Amino acid sequence: MKKIFIFLGPPGSGKGTQTSKLADKLSIPHIDTGSLLRKNIQDNTPLGVVAKGFIDKGQLVPLSVVSSVIEDRIRKEDCAQGYILDGFPRSVEQAQELEKILDRIGTFNLKNDAVAIYFDIDNEILIQRLINRRSCPKCGTIYNLLSNPPKIMDYCDICDTKLTLRADDNEQTARARFETYEKETAPLEEYYKQLGILKELEADKSISEIWDNLKKVVFED
Ligand code: AMP
Repeated sequence: MKKIFIFLGPPGSGKGTQTSKLADKLSIPHIDTGSLLRKNIQDNTPLGVVAKGFIDKGQLVPLSVVSSVIEDRIRKEDCAQGYILDGFPRSVEQAQELEKILDRIGTFNLKNDAVAIYFDIDNEILIQRLINRRSCPKCGTIYNLLSNPPKIMDYCDICDTKLTLRADDNEQTARARFETYEKETAPLEEYYKQLGILKELEADKSISEIWDNLKKVVFED
């Protein structure tokens, strides 16, 4: 089985839900750059201050910032057996940076040890999903008011905390994030196809159907 799982797909395509399930199943870390950056913003670190301006506009945070966040994280001991990358790389420039980071660390090699899993889904469906997405600030559970609502409106089923809408899930920023995705991230599909490590997953399906298909990609190769 592969060691590095790179998840690609537009915002709201369901990557977060599936990557969390996979991380539990494989007992490897789920590294989500969006959450790492939001944590820096919450803690008011210098890095978070820089990141916030870009996140609020739906733009990519500069490579130097994201690169150091990722390298520090994957150098940690819990990544020695493998890890899941969710939201990184997000451009060809970042993909090339990932290869340099892997060379520097020396444990894994992209071509032999990694698979890039692309979540294929229509953008308009996703914009609706994003603006209806709510998450629990305490335990991280993700809901959707249309397709996967909590039992009590606006409260987490698991820990009863009031659910929140991410600041960048409003319609204007959501549309900007799609534009950024099309321009910067979509070319990665071709990039990883050329490298021979791309697998495509139809993402306009239920959570359990996507999960079944994902397991096939992960365990049958
Ligand atoms: P996400 O939670 O993955 O939707 O990311 C939220 C925001 O964080 C994005 O819209 C970007 O502004 C920023 N971000 C997350 N990952 C990256 C990355 N790999 N490179 C640059 N910016 C990122």
